[in-house]
Amino acid sequence: AKRSGRGQVFAHSCDLREEFERRRILFAQIDAALAADQFEPHFQPQLCTRTGKLSGCEVLARWRHPERGIVPPATFIAAAEEAGLIRQIDLIMVEKGLDLLESLRDRGYVIPSISVNVSPATLRDPNLSDRLLQEVLARGMTPHDLTVEILETTLIRSEDDHAILSVEQLKKAGFSVVLDDFGTGYASMSTLSRLLFDGIKLDRSLIAPIPNDRAESIVAALTTLSRSLDMRIVAEGVETEEQFSRVKAHGCDVVQGFLVGHPMDAEAFALWYDGFAAA
Ligand code: C2E
Ligand code: CA
Ligand code: CA
Ligand code: CA
Repeated sequence: AKRSGRGQVFAHSCDLREEFERRRILFAQIDAALAADQFEPHFQPQLCTRTGKLSGCEVLARWRHPERGIVPPATFIAAAEEAGLIRQIDLIMVEKGLDLLESLRDRGYVIPSISVNVSPATLRDPNLSDRLLQEVLARGMTPHDLTVEILETTLIRSEDDHAILSVEQLKKAGFSVVLDDFGTGYASMSTLSRLLFDGIKLDRSLIAPIPNDRAESIVAALTTLSRSLDMRIVAEGVETEEQFSRVKAHGCDVVQGFLVGHPMDAEAFALWYDGFAAA
């Protein structure tokens, strides 16, 4: 049976109310999860293609839910941003990520640095650079131990210049700043011309089609571009040996993806490293 126009509007507003209610519950759950300390960092290894050694790890947030188990960020990052809770999560990942880095190094694991993800709201915090500096110095580390990954949408969306100022402060303090998900945005090139980044991370969507001549031409061109701008280039989402050897041949400096290792909690990462070091 056909619905009347009025009926459709009614159904639509019901959906909206349901959606609103669902989000309200999720916001409260994230808030409670923060209070209960349920967010933890997982480490995904990044390999230097030249040396074959570990060049660092990306810190990826996970919600360890008492009933649901490990909850991935797709479930909570956007909601946390909307609820104004993302800054807390981002800073917890910095603290716990550095704590994990410290404890793994104490156990003899050689991890040159970690990368953390920061959302727009986090980047706009005028004290971000000082906070991060405090966190590294408190552990006897230096800014070289920490890379900050930002999305270019962050820079475009921010109407004010806070985000750009923040990038400049991070760089001045000695942190590396890399542009994440490169190749998915609208203003990649103008962003690169305005700001000095230490590197770019090629989005998985550029890597997934490889082996493929056109996709590889793009990767090769971006590698040349990043060289001339004195940036390192990371290939994300490398899942096969063939993709690894192709992106390496095209000049990518670092490879990250399921082929090398999934994001892992502290113990799984230690096991992974032992196997990697033995190989
Ligand atoms: P991202 O920063 O682009 O992180 C890479 C994502 O790709 C991760 O998903 C990772 O698990 C996944 N990945 C890595 N290698 C492969 C591969 O070979 N194949 C495939 N199919 N996927 C791969 P994850 O952990 O689910 O994170 C999703 C996104 O959530 C991240 O994307 C990042 O934007 C966001 N995120 C994660 N942790 C944080 C955080 O602490 N703060 C903020 N603001 N955002 C975070
Ligand atoms: Ca602390
Ligand atoms: Ca990232
Ligand atoms: Ca990415």
